[in-house]
Amino acid sequence: MNGMTPADPDHEIAAPHPYRLAQRRSSEGAASVVELGGDRRIGGGSFAIIAGPCAIETREQTLEIARVARDAGATMLRGGAYKPRTSPYAFQGLGDAGLQILADARAHTGLPIVTELMDVRDVESVAAVADMIQIGARNMQNYALLTEVGRTRVPVMIKRGLSSTIDELLMAAEYVLKGGNLDAVLCERGIRTFETAYRFTLDLAAVPVLKSLSHLPVIVDPCHAAGRRDLVEPLALAAAAVGADGIIVEIHPDPDNAVCDGPQTLRCCDFARFAERVQHVADAARLVPAGV
Ligand code: PEP
Ligand code: MN
Repeated sequence: MNGMTPADPDHEIAAPHPYRLAQRRSSEGAASVVELGGDRRIGGGSFAIIAGPCAIETREQTLEIARVARDAGATMLRGGAYKPRTSPYAFQGLGDAGLQILADARAHTGLPIVTELMDVRDVESVAAVADMIQIGARNMQNYALLTEVGRTRVPVMIKRGLSSTIDELLMAAEYVLKGGNLDAVLCERGIRTFETAYRFTLDLAAVPVLKSLSHLPVIVDPCHAAGRRDLVEPLALAAAAVGADGIIVEIHPDPDNAVCDGPQTLRCCDFARFAERVQHVADAARLVPAGV
């Protein structure tokens, strides 16, 4: 016995908060804003719309999609050069060639790029092209990968794991912030439940909960949650209404022939009107004072 009792406040070792950098410091504490590619931002009252194909397929098609996204006022272009696929026989992405196509698309349209990093060995090549690095749902708890992107100074979007809690998502972000990279964005993309009518269950309550627990911007991916094109717009409208800082959606000129995720992908020809409707709801949601 050393004479200390657990209740003795002078001798208690305060356990650090598990996500002390990601946590909101007070109910009025400032929310963070992530700046992208110069004049774009996520958070701070604007509503970001990120759009692009699931996977980069060809240069011509990517440039076409990028133009559609830009003309509709999208904030960023998405597209995977490295794809996490459930089957090892499914298309795994174009890799470096896909990154080059993304760089061309940015040069042509001025749209900043978000693309997925799956492997610590690719951190330099992905960070060289990406304006925001995507950590996919399947890698949300890949702590080596999170630590590595924490060492970069490229903004990072972390998607919630398929079966991860809100606390686990915040601790994943903490790995990035702890490395000194303070530009993290959280993404709710649906979680696994007993429901089978759609691909995943979009947990929209996570948006206000994350915003009450953390200062980080929160965006929503209605496509991967739904797995069905017909649900993408209603879920995107709901995301805007619930106070998300933006959405990320898949668009393609010919989703029926997309190499990846076609059934949940919006048609390019429908994107401009979709974006306009979602932006209207986001604007309306901002006019309602918080707490009303
Ligand atoms: C994607 O964005 O294409 C993707 C694979 O998403 P998730 O990691 O959420 O499944
Ligand atoms: Mn996809």
